[in-house]
Amino acid sequence: MKKNLLTLPLLFTFLLSLCACAAPPQLTQDVVTFPSDTLAVKAISDLPEDFILGMDISSVLSEEESGVKYYDFEGRETDLFRLLRNCGITHVRVRVWNDPYDSEGHGYGGGNCSPERAVEIGRRAALCGLKLIVDFHYSDFWADPGKQTVPKAWRGMDAMEKAEAMFKFTCETLQQLRSAGAEVAMVQVGNEINGFLCGETDWDPICYLLQAGSKAVREVFPDALVAVHFSNPERSGAYREYAKHLDEYGVDYDVFASSYYPFWHGTLDNLSAVLSDIAETYDKKVIVMETSYAYTADDTDFFGNTIGEGSAVDRPYPYTVQGQADAVRDVIDTTVHTSGGIGVVYWEGAWISVGGASWEENHALWERYGSGWATACAGSYDPEDAGRYYGGCAVDNQAFFDPSGHPLESLKLFCLLRSGNTVASDP
Ligand code: CA
Repeated sequence: MKKNLLTLPLLFTFLLSLCACAAPPQLTQDVVTFPSDTLAVKAISDLPEDFILGMDISSVLSEEESGVKYYDFEGRETDLFRLLRNCGITHVRVRVWNDPYDSEGHGYGGGNCSPERAVEIGRRAALCGLKLIVDFHYSDFWADPGKQTVPKAWRGMDAMEKAEAMFKFTCETLQQLRSAGAEVAMVQVGNEINGFLCGETDWDPICYLLQAGSKAVREVFPDALVAVHFSNPERSGAYREYAKHLDEYGVDYDVFASSYYPFWHGTLDNLSAVLSDIAETYDKKVIVMETSYAYTADDTDFFGNTIGEGSAVDRPYPYTVQGQADAVRDVIDTTVHTSGGIGVVYWEGAWISVGGASWEENHALWERYGSGWATACAGSYDPEDAGRYYGGCAVDNQAFFDPSGHPLESLKLFCLLRSGNTVASDP
């Protein structure tokens, strides 16, 4: 009964959204195969039908609020979610911060990814037939191997109290997603937790917290996969140690997730070896939960990027549209042929310049709508990083869109993976 009540408004909204956008001639949710005269793609053998081809678009609402528009391959303005679905993307990933606002209600930026905004992204994804991967940071702002800051509301709590708060927060957020019609397929408890989580630094409390998050996922979305997410597969022995701790403490999870950025994280052979080891030793699925690559060395929003010309990082592919596609294709190929491999998720492929003609113009939009990585207000929560280096987007040269919102040829990769594609210049 509840489901039927939900279905009708969803269908109505979906039809409305089709009318509102510049739609392709066929109102279909099927993947469209976009031919390409310029993008060479080596076909991936044995690519499973249900393999996850994901895209993290956590900043999309802030981008749209800042005036960013996205276009299809014919140059028509389009809904980003629909375009991604048509291009073969299967899952959208969204990060969740507990409370990314200061005491006066100013957003910290990075998409201002509150639970409410994650719900809106999940709702829109479902309307376009996209499943959702929910990425709980259990922090009020960015959590990564460098920082796992406890949410403001949980300061002073011991691990037991935090676990209770985490269970409640996870349940409530997932219930909101369910009510909005989001198709939650996977939930990660924590983000890049290399031995740190929510202010805890010992495995005993960390595993206790992970178990609280996992239990919440099992209760609200019993069919969803529970993922635990780490980074730095290139660090010898680290993943084996993490997985051993999870096993010893009996953390209930399905997917061992890894970030893999080709310019930081070692070789694909090593990635495959360390993930296979976990999959085979502990009978787990594995996924590359974040990856990306640059299509240009240039910055396009007056705020420096994480990689570019002169960066002291590995550069296994040229910074070109073809190089970007080749990098992603090879990560997918590797994961398909790794034990337990179920998918690859591209990180923030639609986070582009907000389009101003100067740093000042863009800065005003970043501050107002949270479309840069951090606002000045975020310094009150994260003084050492955001407080000193706040600003715009550091990955606009790793998007699948040019600075004006038009898709790069490399976005056709996902629908060409099975067939492959040969072009005249392809040797
Ligand atoms: Ca930039």
